[in-house]
Amino acid sequence: IRWTEGRGWHDAQLQPYAPLQMDPANMTLHYAQTIFEGLKAYRQPDGSVAVFRPDANARRFQRSARRLAMPELPVETFVEACDLLVQQDRAWVPEQAEQSLYLRPFMFASEVGLGVRPANEYLFMVIASPAGAYFPRGVKPVSVWLSQEYVRAAPGGTGEAKTGGNYAASLVAQAEAAEHGCDQVVWLDAGERRWIEEMGGMNLYFVVGSGADATIVTPKLTGTLLPGITRDSLLTIAADLGYRTEERLISVEEWREGNADGTITEVFACGTAAVITPVGTVKSAHAQWTVGDGEPGEITMRLREKLLAIQTGRAEDRYGWMHKLA
Ligand code: PMP
Repeated sequence: IRWTEGRGWHDAQLQPYAPLQMDPANMTLHYAQTIFEGLKAYRQPDGSVAVFRPDANARRFQRSARRLAMPELPVETFVEACDLLVQQDRAWVPEQAEQSLYLRPFMFASEVGLGVRPANEYLFMVIASPAGAYFPRGVKPVSVWLSQEYVRAAPGGTGEAKTGGNYAASLVAQAEAAEHGCDQVVWLDAGERRWIEEMGGMNLYFVVGSGADATIVTPKLTGTLLPGITRDSLLTIAADLGYRTEERLISVEEWREGNADGTITEVFACGTAAVITPVGTVKSAHAQWTVGDGEPGEITMRLREKLLAIQTGRAEDRYGWMHKLA
């Protein structure tokens, strides 16, 4: 679907996957006006297909567009575009548990020019790919690296938007994490480098206390982390399962000390790709520790099972999250 200044959205088309032809002076290649989303379509027990919360992705896409001075795509158009593609690719939606059809909606400036200003032309597209289970051989905790040197997002920046530049800026820290033998980076705030923000592509959750007394805590949205749709869904699910939930600031010291004295019993990350991933070990330039006994926690696995059951149609969708295709 194209957008042109003065004309708005036009020329929606469903076409076979093919390379795009691009002018070397395409403004996106130089000034990075580009945003995207990630969401999944799941096979349901009756053979039908349903997309998880596409309206939530559509609204986040609108917020990202505003931050990048791009035009907002109506929520209905975003959802309809995803629907059309899933209908077309229906045979590619896997039958197996935990597998899905991953959808990647994105928009970028399509105008040609070298002046630095919001473009007057944009292209919105959706592509799809079958996605295997994130943990084909059972859920395995990840190791994380607390990045002190690099920051992902600063106050007033684009941290809350899902824009390519945030990911480009994070690659060097991801490489640093790998050098230290870690799977993922945990980002800290840009000021004090003290407050836990999120991971490269997932939000974080902390289980404080244990059993029925546990409180499920996630860093609050300060403007520098991505408001994850999985994060949002888990706040609802956790509360429904009877846990207290809190959105607040959590510091590295609280994590380290809470881990040592046993108040923080489980930590996990969540996002569309992995749904829920337990965090097993933590490393920074100054310290290293194991979360709990290093194995997936009980509450982590309970929340994971509940969310997956809703997504795959094995549990009732009391929240109206599953968007069923006709
Ligand atoms: N943080 C970042 C930086 C991400 O890229 C993602 C993936 N979209 C998330 C968190 C998790 O968001 P969601 O649950 O909407 O996939």
